[in-house]
Amino acid sequence: MTEKPDIIIIGGGIVGAAIARELSRYELSAVLLEAREDLARGASGANSGIIHAGYDPKPGSLMAKYNVKGNQMYPEICAKLQIPFHQTGSLVLAFNEEQMKEVQRLYDRGLENGVPHMQILSGEEVHQLEPEVSEKALGALYALTAGIISPYEATIAMAENAAENGVAFRFSEQVTAIEKTEDGFVVQTNQGKLTARLIINCAGAQAGEISRMAGAENLSIQEKKGEYTLYDRNIGGFVQHVIFQTPDENGKGVLVTPTAEGNLLIGPSSDALEEPGDTATTQLGQDKIFIQAKKSCEKLPAGGAITSFAGIRAVCGEDFVIGASALVPDLIQVAGICSPGLTSAPAIAQDIAELVKVKLGSVKEKKDWKDTREAVPCVRELSWEERKTLCEKNADYGKIVCRCETVTEGEIRHVLRSAVPVYTVDGVKRRCRAGMGRCQGSFCTPRVMQIIAEEAGISLEEVRKAGKGTEIVQGYLKGEK
Ligand SMILES: Cc1cc2nc3c(=O)[nH]c(=O)nc-3n(C[C@H](O)[C@H](O)[C@H](O)COP(=O)(O)OP(=O)(O)OC[C@H]3O[C@@H](n4cnc5c(N)ncnc54)[C@H](O)[C@@H]3O)c2cc1C
Repeated sequence: MTEKPDIIIIGGGIVGAAIARELSRYELSAVLLEAREDLARGASGANSGIIHAGYDPKPGSLMAKYNVKGNQMYPEICAKLQIPFHQTGSLVLAFNEEQMKEVQRLYDRGLENGVPHMQILSGEEVHQLEPEVSEKALGALYALTAGIISPYEATIAMAENAAENGVAFRFSEQVTAIEKTEDGFVVQTNQGKLTARLIINCAGAQAGEISRMAGAENLSIQEKKGEYTLYDRNIGGFVQHVIFQTPDENGKGVLVTPTAEGNLLIGPSSDALEEPGDTATTQLGQDKIFIQAKKSCEKLPAGGAITSFAGIRAVCGEDFVIGASALVPDLIQVAGICSPGLTSAPAIAQDIAELVKVKLGSVKEKKDWKDTREAVPCVRELSWEERKTLCEKNADYGKIVCRCETVTEGEIRHVLRSAVPVYTVDGVKRRCRAGMGRCQGSFCTPRVMQIIAEEAGISLEEVRKAGKGTEIVQGYLKGEK
């Protein structure tokens, strides 16, 4: 039987998840379809994780509007969904008089965009605030409302909250064709057919394809790769703020920042893709960002990197593309959501929900909508007393599986029983950090796999690292299990 939700959301990045959460307030049926095996597998899982203040986008643009509003929304959302969020503030460093003029221009832009709490600092003030910044910095724009977040954790938290309120999430389900009908759409996926009254296109780098499938605008999405280096948590405290250089034609440039999880991150580069979907990192790319980052912090350690990754920016012209398609009005476009899309997502979602209400007509708010979500307890951060209480309730919280990140069996089982469980090694890693530390899962992966197999009721051979074809067990020594 063909499923018939009111709304199909295409794409499980931060934008799709934020929209799903916003729509879950209302008495309507919504399904989110994601081509990959988990949430946040596109740009939302591989970015800088900065909640930007909003001084950068052009005044009057959608980017400016949603950035500033999104920035204001995050503290409350994070408190409600138990997402770690640190309002660290950001610095844009200037190394010469020309760049000081750019700092002044960004400050003026920020004022025009309505960004509160900005200051222009002298070199001395910068060094007092952030001693690791290069002595060569003459001054900086200091934006106190900027912050850091884990982008995939934010996506997962919003999705879990939406799922708890009734939105369905379907993974490994790629939309392959869309047919417009009199009262909506028939959507063909690699798993079957669904019909819906409205489609919301949040397919990131593939938003142009979805638009074309629906017979809507020819959106031209340009892709650019951004590489990062992630450092161990033992140097996570190297800097306390998000440190940018003045932007150039390639965007905001290479930053040095603490992450919400307590690591140190440098990047991103800005490179053409070798092929579609290319997220490989290269030694050349890593060297480039290291040299760039050293301009901001000369004492940046050469050792201590634990991994590298890359994300793909999906740019569509100079601004976000948001709203009902002019050609196919029941298709809502949320395309070209490049930076500051992570910051903007909650604000975009509010406006999309308003648009959906207008389109569907007479949509009621649920009386029992739950706007909070309980995160997995982070045992590492608990006091001994709190750990004892937790272990008395459930002894699994006393069994450490990931030694680098101090993640327990209780935490792993918790995430596998969440509202949007994903039974893969990487899914567990993104949800509770097992395997995210210095050894990158070398020690804990076998145990994590056993727990996944138990919770999902599958065999060890079926447990995957990520998507199809990433099974880890290929056979048994001497043919024995
Ligand atoms: C290097 C880099 C750094 C960035 N830094 C920041 C930052 O610090 N702060 C900030 O605010 N923003 C930042 N951004 C921007 C931010 O990451 C994006 O704006 C945001 O993640 C976009 O979210 P999305 O949901 O639109 O897209 P995505 O996260 O890409 O999600 C789209 C999803 O759609 C799915 N999909 C595609 N086609 C189909 C299909 N046919 N069927 C089903 N599903 C499909 C994809 O698999 C994907 O999961 C950065 C981006 C990059 C690349």
